[in-house]
Amino acid sequence: MAWETPAVITFANRRELRRSYWHELGHVFDMQVLAPSGLRPAFAAIDGRPWTTPASEERFAQAYALCAHNKILRRPYKSEYHAFSLTPRQFLRVCRLIRGAVQSG
Ligand SMILES: [Zn+2]
Repeated sequence: MAWETPAVITFANRRELRRSYWHELGHVFDMQVLAPSGLRPAFAAIDGRPWTTPASEERFAQAYALCAHNKILRRPYKSEYHAFSLTPRQFLRVCRLIRGAVQSG
């Protein structure tokens, strides 16, 4: 994947597109909406860790993709990617944060 500003995401192939599309869109959302709205600390509070670069960006992008793909999270989600994990309750809070950011922006 390659990044340009303003947000242009280039995927190497369809497989990478399918695997990463919503994650990469989460990064765009972070840059275009979350950060300018001052909502990164709100995500960090849900994440239970202070916002750090790049780990928090990656965890937010993972959470964004989960919210895009699922209405509910039935059991805790855990990934070794930047030690990302989300409980069903955190999932609801993050998805609510994203929807709220969209509605207020
Ligand atoms: Zn990423």
